[in-house]
Amino acid sequence: MVKEVMYMFGFDPVGLKCVLCNLHDETIDHLFLHRDWSWKVWKAAMGWWEVEFCASRTINDWFLGWSSLNPLQCTARAWQILFSAVVWSLWEARNNRIFKNSKVLIHQVVDMVRFMLVWWFKHCGKWSKDQVSLMLLNVKDRCVNLPIPKKSRSAH
Ligand SMILES: [Zn+2]
Repeated sequence: MVKEVMYMFGFDPVGLKCVLCNLHDETIDHLFLHRDWSWKVWKAAMGWWEVEFCASRTINDWFLGWSSLNPLQCTARAWQILFSAVVWSLWEARNNRIFKNSKVLIHQVVDMVRFMLVWWFKHCGKWSKDQVSLMLLNVKDRCVNLPIPKKSRSAH
């Protein structure tokens, strides 16, 4: 997709390298799933729920299989939010590298995912009355292990 968008704007995408590792062609699968540390971000995010899994071949397959990894203690909606938060944070990291020439570290991307998740739990999920700063310090106890409101638990 990245290359397709480049092509639309008149850039020749053949041989376009990933700006973060400068080793592989930049494809959507490489960027979001297979880049040396993209997978580490996924692992960190899944780790908050003690979920472990192997990466799919493509981000499309990963998206399609994501709901089947949904742990019991997490609502389907929160699990979807986590997926979006990881993808958005990786995309932001890539763009910061390109447009601001800023070096991006794995823990910064994980922190961004954590922040987006906490923000969602606080303002949309409305599961917690804790301060955001407390929630950020301990995602596991302040977000992940919150009792799930009965109504928002979807059947699956
Ligand atoms: Zn790369």
